[in-house]
Amino acid sequence: MNTIIENGTIVNEGKVCRGSVVIQDDRISEIIFSTEPPRGNYDKRVDATGCFVLPGVIDEHVHFRQPGMTDKGDIESESRAAAMGGVTSFFDMPNTNPMTTTLETLDEKIQMAVRDSHINYSFFFGATNQNSSLFKHLDPHIIPGIKVFMGASTGNMLVDNSRALEKIFQTAAFLNLPVMTHCEDSAMITANMKIAKEKYGDDPDVIHHYEIRNADACHHSSKLAIELAKRFGTQLHIAHLSTAKELSLIDDVEVRKLVTLEAVIAHLVFTNEDYLTKKALIKCNPSVKTAADRDALRRALANGKISTVGTDHAPHLLSQKQGDVVGLLPECR
Ligand SMILES: [Zn+2]
Repeated sequence: MNTIIENGTIVNEGKVCRGSVVIQDDRISEIIFSTEPPRGNYDKRVDATGCFVLPGVIDEHVHFRQPGMTDKGDIESESRAAAMGGVTSFFDMPNTNPMTTTLETLDEKIQMAVRDSHINYSFFFGATNQNSSLFKHLDPHIIPGIKVFMGASTGNMLVDNSRALEKIFQTAAFLNLPVMTHCEDSAMITANMKIAKEKYGDDPDVIHHYEIRNADACHHSSKLAIELAKRFGTQLHIAHLSTAKELSLIDDVEVRKLVTLEAVIAHLVFTNEDYLTKKALIKCNPSVKTAADRDALRRALANGKISTVGTDHAPHLLSQKQGDVVGLLPECR
């Protein structure tokens, strides 16, 4: 069986060219860079006129909910959805139940993916206040890195002990394991929540979500993560950057050697004004911010300051995406 995808615009390895891709059985056998229609007999011809032909996408940030929250989704269902959208590899986050914070839970998750995943997979190992001694057993060829929740997004995986944070960054640097952080300062969020409750009542309207989980809380936490990376020489990837203010943290050339930034779909698409119509459907952590923040993120993506995009795909039941700031969800994301 041979197939040709013709007349498309091929985007690959820094090049953008018109051409055709030939697939023999399940392998790409030839890429023809030419605007001429290719000759030859093909069992199937796909006309890609007006389309981009892209390599399989790596989604570096997903929450596929298995184990423990499979009423929302699981590795089989979500990897199938990913494949339908052109995603051929995913990196899953450790805030499942049980959490991926031990070697056993990591291994169990890998075995689930061996059995159930339709596409390539890898799993972040979750850091806690106590588990950095396990890092030496992790293989950087198998996992993408260590995920550190430096904000109270997800239950008890919050790393809020400064000694533990230092140990995590130091140990990861020594072992050449990248660290990916969720940066929001919990103390600042708690203080903002207190003020909001005084002003608006016990469960403030969701339109105030971005004032509680605000830009300063993100900036303060990202700054701390970068200081730790610089101190220990840790390769740091800051997940789901949501503010213009944080972008200036990597202006320095030396910092850019160690620190990379991720944007996710919610912050590239929505702004705080969308809370009025979409309510808690767009409630996520870090919160979506202002139009100025969104526009700055888009510019940073266009000019390369933000180097990766993840979906942060994190399914919930519709009934769980109701309510206001306090809301129904025990865990977000
Ligand atoms: Zn996430």
